[in-house]
Amino acid sequence: MISCEQALKLIEENNPSPKEEEAWISAALGLVCAEDVRAPLDLPLYDNSAMDGFVLRSEDTRTATAEKPVLLSIRGVVKAGDDGRVRLDEGKTYRIMTGAPIIKGGDAVLEKEKAFIQDNCLVMTAPAQKGRNIRYQAEEVKKSELALPKGSVITPGTIGFLATMGMNRVTVYKKPAISLITTGSELTAPGGLLRPGKIYDSNTAMIQAALEEMRIRPFFVRRFHDVPKTIQKVMRFALKESDIVILMGGVSVGDYDFVKGLLEEEGVKTIFWKVSQKPGKPLYFGRKENRLVFGFPGNPASVFTCFYEYVYPAIRRFMGYQNPCLFSSRLKLKGSLKPDPEKVLFIKSKIENGEDKGVLPLRHQKSHMISSLCQADSFVVVQNSETVLEEGEKVLVHALPFASEGVL
Ligand code: AMP
Ligand code: MG
Repeated sequence: MISCEQALKLIEENNPSPKEEEAWISAALGLVCAEDVRAPLDLPLYDNSAMDGFVLRSEDTRTATAEKPVLLSIRGVVKAGDDGRVRLDEGKTYRIMTGAPIIKGGDAVLEKEKAFIQDNCLVMTAPAQKGRNIRYQAEEVKKSELALPKGSVITPGTIGFLATMGMNRVTVYKKPAISLITTGSELTAPGGLLRPGKIYDSNTAMIQAALEEMRIRPFFVRRFHDVPKTIQKVMRFALKESDIVILMGGVSVGDYDFVKGLLEEEGVKTIFWKVSQKPGKPLYFGRKENRLVFGFPGNPASVFTCFYEYVYPAIRRFMGYQNPCLFSSRLKLKGSLKPDPEKVLFIKSKIENGEDKGVLPLRHQKSHMISSLCQADSFVVVQNSETVLEEGEKVLVHALPFASEGVL
């Protein structure tokens, strides 16, 4: 039996390096940029107006006062999309729209709201400062400078930024090919007819959804009875085609827990089996060439915890994430918790926002129980110890990826 830290470290050490591919920006959300993106152009591309107003030469307005205004005659209009090739001569002005190019000679824009017009002239009662309301070429990004460093997570904002630079493709790290295999002769698909002694399979749908939340569609999802021949055949296929194989059920010490033995027969090297934690003690981790294999004990709370604490980081590391683990922080405990002297506990909890922010451990923590997962958005991580954690104490919290969405 190893500790949670050792388990995480072994997984990290065995994680294969990320692989690159080119993606359309429309398909790159949530992926990690695998190249240093250098700006192919200046941003802004050209000097342009920040406001709807009048473009003028600041010099012309130098002497303008309320008593002795300067009149600039309005020659025309420059709108967004115009090539801006007209020239602004002394004593003249053009109407200009937001985003329209600053025409030659112009060096300031007076906002429309502040303009006073008389007889087709702009009446200036004060000098306009050079540069007023002008967005200068390259003031944000200069052509060929580093615009987006390798390792950046691609958010909707990043996609907007790449699009601004005219890019519709970007080099990213690949998602892993994942297969999901559930075993258990007692399992029935939800919606199916339940015969005596059978239960519904909660894990397959749950982990499929967890993967979907990461925008990953496992390419192979199947459920089998505890029949070694069948499981072996399926394993062989999954091991050939996947970067990560997730097996659920059958890794414990029961007479029908065949998974570990069969994996070894298939050439998978066991890296660890059993972690001093609750839930999920019989967690299995193995490797065959560059392919990772996780075996979860079948209790739903174990599956859920093992997925988020161990597989979620492994998948994200595979995808090039620099911070692959669940977001962690320390929050005030609402209630008290009794640690286990031997094992780390992952307590399903709910983060309470607002003034008196804290974390509330939920009811029904046993590994065969699942109802608390409807409210859970985090784990309180309780290190093995004899000392009770008291109300108000700051505790380590691992937030689940959907914790920040405020949907729970
Ligand atoms: P196992 O790890 O196969 O020994 O299973 C441990 C416990 O989890 C048993 O009570 C199983 O019936 C239950 N279990 C296993 N797989 C699932 C599943 N897919 N959905 C719900 N419960 C399961
Ligand atoms: Mg079983």
